[in-house]
Amino acid sequence: MQTDAVIVGAGPCGLFAAFQLGMHGLSAQFVDTLDRPGGQCIELYPDKPIYDIPALPAVKAGELVERLMTQAAPFKPAFHMGQQAISLGRLSDGRWSVATDGGLDLQAPVVVLATGGGGFTPRTPPNLARLEAYEGAGVRYAVRRLEDHASERVVIAGGGDSAVDWAIALAAVAAEVVLVHQREEFRAQPHSVACLQRLIAEGRVRRLTGRVVGLHGEAPGLEAVTVKARDGETRVLTDRLLVFFGFVMRGGPLESLGLDLVDGLVPVDTGRFEQAARPVRDW
Ligand SMILES: Cc1cc2nc3c(=O)[nH]c(=O)nc-3n(C[C@H](O)[C@H](O)[C@H](O)COP(=O)(O)OP(=O)(O)OC[C@H]3O[C@@H](n4cnc5c(N)ncnc54)[C@H](O)[C@@H]3O)c2cc1C
Repeated sequence: MQTDAVIVGAGPCGLFAAFQLGMHGLSAQFVDTLDRPGGQCIELYPDKPIYDIPALPAVKAGELVERLMTQAAPFKPAFHMGQQAISLGRLSDGRWSVATDGGLDLQAPVVVLATGGGGFTPRTPPNLARLEAYEGAGVRYAVRRLEDHASERVVIAGGGDSAVDWAIALAAVAAEVVLVHQREEFRAQPHSVACLQRLIAEGRVRRLTGRVVGLHGEAPGLEAVTVKARDGETRVLTDRLLVFFGFVMRGGPLESLGLDLVDGLVPVDTGRFEQAARPVRDW
């Protein structure tokens, strides 16, 4: 896929870069491992006030991200979420190529690495036998395109913003949505929780209090999961298990991109803040 600029990382810095690129007439495509833009602000502290943004005496991190999205919106950036950039290479015509673990190959003259403190990797459900065999197919940690789940039976595990928001969105397209959460309460925006409760009352989302303890079917395809509740175990027929248990930050995202690092930092030509012209890898 060709574009003017690829931005790796849709945190606050990446989002502002999309605005700046737009001001120069360049359109941008984002790649981020998270399922929504906002980086640390959205994943780690959306409701915490921030006091050090110029001209905004106090703003919640979630609102800051909304404002950055609004600022970049006129330039129509594209978002490829739930994908990790896994390699960076130089093409023979001088452009860059960014490959993702979701099979995308984005080519552009400009790559902005706004990878912050590191890549986020999804927290996996503990003690689930043969989990790896299902990952990427029957079990996923992100929704890349809502349409991928049209007419599917989906089990969602989790009780935070991502689990609640995706349960609401998927209720509109999936054949069945079952939301499995260990606690009675959800840890999500009150408006989203109210919307979810309505869908549960209308029978459009089924809610189970418990946790997923077993996966069934010929991997990587999934046929059913076992949910353990206080009063026993239930087998739920399903095509997909979507796990939203949050993310953990792992350092060193730049190393995996094959960059020349000095003490973990990227040496740049400070005139242009570009890395030295040496190709990372010739393709
Ligand atoms: C609890 C907490 C409170 C904070 N409070 C404040 C505050 O009050 N004021 C303040 O100024 N700062 C605060 N910070 C720091 C601030 O959040 C960070 O400085 C800021 O988020 C950095 O923005 P960024 O866009 O550079 O990176 P990040 O927000 O880290 O975003 C980087 C993005 O890149 C993605 N990414 C990384 N590698 C890859 C890859 N290989 N492929 C695809 N995607 C990738 C990640 O998934 C992530 O979404 C706080 C941080 C924390 C944890």
